[in-house]
Amino acid sequence: MAPNPTRPAGDLPSADPEARRRKLREAVRDARLDGFLVVAPPNVRYLTGFTGSNAILLAAGSAEILLTDPRYRTQAAEQVSCPVEVVRGPLLPAAIRLIRTQRLRKLGFEKSKVDVGTFQELEEAVESRTRLLAVNGLVEKLRAIKSRSEVDLIRRSVRTCSEAYRRAVRKIRPGLREFELAAEIDYLMRRQGADRPAFDTIVAAGRRSALPHARPTHNALINNQLLLVDMGAEQDGYASDMTRMIHLGKPSTRARQLHRAVLDAQLEGIAAVRAGVPAATVDQRTRKTLRSHGLERFFVHSTGHGLGLEIHEFPRLGRGEPACLEAGMVVTIEPGVYFEGFGGIRIEDTVLVTQSGCEVLTPTPKDLLVL
Ligand code: ZN
Ligand code: ZN
Repeated sequence: MAPNPTRPAGDLPSADPEARRRKLREAVRDARLDGFLVVAPPNVRYLTGFTGSNAILLAAGSAEILLTDPRYRTQAAEQVSCPVEVVRGPLLPAAIRLIRTQRLRKLGFEKSKVDVGTFQELEEAVESRTRLLAVNGLVEKLRAIKSRSEVDLIRRSVRTCSEAYRRAVRKIRPGLREFELAAEIDYLMRRQGADRPAFDTIVAAGRRSALPHARPTHNALINNQLLLVDMGAEQDGYASDMTRMIHLGKPSTRARQLHRAVLDAQLEGIAAVRAGVPAATVDQRTRKTLRSHGLERFFVHSTGHGLGLEIHEFPRLGRGEPACLEAGMVVTIEPGVYFEGFGGIRIEDTVLVTQSGCEVLTPTPKDLLVL
């Protein structure tokens, strides 16, 4: 997405689904389509407010229609301001009927969300009357820039995550098993009002911290060990994401130095965040800092990702990402280094991009917590 330097500070998009659907219509027109089929639940939710699990939104010209099944009749009537059609049985044939009666000639669909079976059914049914075009990220790009109320929801999700972490840390002692700590964290997030964890909570001690996406095991925590906790809440639909490092017992010089280097890189990454800056540049900054510590080759993932209704959203803060950051995006900054047989260190915050820089939303201290 091209940077938009003319966007005045604080001019964030509306949280009103109708305003979002107007933006969708513009995007559909700009893509030279006369209709767009939305099947991904977070995209449907963003455009309509509907939180049910089974729905399709068909946007055609200046009107949108939501298709759902009878279980959601009442909920859709309460949540959705555009026309709703309640369909018995599968939704796709009903969507196809609408596509045919509306005589849509060029229909876009979500390239990475429509499976082959759905595509084939669609293609056979619309025959040559409608051209189907796979489009990448049309709604996702609208979603990238958060409204004020979305930022507030993310702030609350971040607070829930940090408060649950603060409470969970008190339970950490040798003998506690990784999965028990993960379960404790999940419970504490729920107790703070989270709908659920935004992803499977990562609790990885000792050597297992070298696995960037480790699953908690039955291993008991022991003294003189690194402990990586990567956690996030989903609250009112919105995600948070944080990684912190703990050391049980006195850390070795190596552990301290590595932590210092990753923190350096993380702070450099944060310092690079500003509206108009290419997302890839932030990634280069963290990489460059780790290089100066001789650690670049141990950094095996990208620097961060957007988040919102999903835990991983556009844009990706990594090599080859063409997008620029824009005010109102919420992204993570999470460099890490991983050593097989020793362990890994990652530090991650959720930050809000602003015109002049960014606001770090995560309040939790970042130093190596020694217990
Ligand atoms: Zn994370
Ligand atoms: Zn993350």
